[in-house]
Amino acid sequence: MDEIISSDLHGRLGKIALPKGDVITPTLLPVIDPRNNLITAQEMKKKFDFNLVITSAYLYYKRFGMPDGANSIHETLGFDGNIMMDSGAYQVLVYGDVDIDPVQSLQIQSNLKADIGVILDVPTPPADTYSQAKQKVEETIRRIGVSLPHIETHPETIWTLPIQGGKNVKLIEHYLGEVKDKDYLSHFRFHALGSVAPVMSQYDFLSLFSMIRTSRELLPHNIPFHLFGAGHPMIFPFVVALGSDTFDSAAYILYAKENRYMTSEGTYHLQELYELPCSCEVCSNWTPKELLDADEDTRIRNVALHNLHVSYAELKRIRVSLKDGNLWELLVNRSKVHPSLYKAFKHIANGSYTEFFEYGTPSTKQTGLKISGEDSFYRPEYSRGRKRIYERYSPNNSKIVILISSGRNNPVEILNLRIELKNSIKSKTNEMDFAFLIPFIGILPLELIETYPFSQYVFSAVLSEGLLSKLELEIERFLEIFPYQEVVLCPLDDWDNSKVLIENIKKILNNREIPFKEKNFREL
Ligand SMILES: [Zn+2]
Repeated sequence: MDEIISSDLHGRLGKIALPKGDVITPTLLPVIDPRNNLITAQEMKKKFDFNLVITSAYLYYKRFGMPDGANSIHETLGFDGNIMMDSGAYQVLVYGDVDIDPVQSLQIQSNLKADIGVILDVPTPPADTYSQAKQKVEETIRRIGVSLPHIETHPETIWTLPIQGGKNVKLIEHYLGEVKDKDYLSHFRFHALGSVAPVMSQYDFLSLFSMIRTSRELLPHNIPFHLFGAGHPMIFPFVVALGSDTFDSAAYILYAKENRYMTSEGTYHLQELYELPCSCEVCSNWTPKELLDADEDTRIRNVALHNLHVSYAELKRIRVSLKDGNLWELLVNRSKVHPSLYKAFKHIANGSYTEFFEYGTPSTKQTGLKISGEDSFYRPEYSRGRKRIYERYSPNNSKIVILISSGRNNPVEILNLRIELKNSIKSKTNEMDFAFLIPFIGILPLELIETYPFSQYVFSAVLSEGLLSKLELEIERFLEIFPYQEVVLCPLDDWDNSKVLIENIKKILNNREIPFKEKNFREL
């Protein structure tokens, strides 16, 4: 990466300097056919600012034979932007094999003057058994060795290290371990995760997420990270949040060939649309019926243009979220698009990805956090904030008053409340500590209420069962770390099912054998 403008979760808004001009990340590389395109790469660059596209070295070879070095792929495609070439591994994934060897594949890419090239790896689709996948991983490692002499003598191309292992993340770990041990890593200025397309087409997003995370954790962050075959735009915010800087997709054209019309919330068949729910150039000028009545090429081209528009719009939305620091909110929103995506998102929202996400999440943000419910409980800002409380807070007294007031849904209301209570609290701080109970945080000592991230949020104040059980774990943890000998529960207002919450806190205190009282604030 040549510049990082801002980051959030594991995603980053940045810049990669390439031979034919800078590329802003995250970005989509539209897949281009080496010969027949209803929308040219140059038109995509002009209309959507795509300055990096991808095409297949193997398909070029099948269509035109071995290139002699006279013409570049840029001349063939009539494109003045950057071109990445895939080695043919995708065709191996789809058809089982290709009739070129690893060195021939590199030769094709070099002769065509690809800006970014890839070695011919062996994909590991999800149907492989562990031992089949392991064999393929070993073969890819062998092929890296075979490819090195060509790579070393052709530095004008940026060479990509493909990452194999598939949904067996242990194999990804093994593969990258071997690559490091053999000192191969330094030869590559681009990294790319492969064997993703079939995992994605099975809607196995849980595996997809863990494949990206495992690779990202094991690779240096100064090198751009690419994902081969990102598919539908609904997945873009997730692959970016997990650390993909670039990703390619042919979905815009493949979907168009089947009359499938993309939206960021899912896909429609053209036949089932009453009108086109979009205001792009195509959708402003055509009706679904007119498109269906048009000749095949016109229809495919226009649906593909719309699909590119949707993909580009989603990309820009992600970049804005990265800049504003609200990528998490976008994930919450997009997770509702498909049940399998929601299931996978619930898995990353349950705390198991928190440290991974903390990596790129700034320690303070300009904008307030919008908390709509339990899915935001373990977002990295709050996990980090809680950790800070547990590590740094030191109690002054053996007695704590827990002010349960959090039906108030933003810090201004809580601060106002604190001002209201200030005098009464002030006279008692020598005898007892004070803390607020905030449903999506836990127990927050009064002294910290004006610090980030506790000072900037809007909260829905709906106490779902899931939120209550997460909250109770944090209350337990607080009482474990800070062994108060006496607790006063001080409900300040009634809201939603706050009574259930208070009963549950009493159960926790009883179990821990901590003496407690429930009091009105005026009686303290
Ligand atoms: Zn449109």
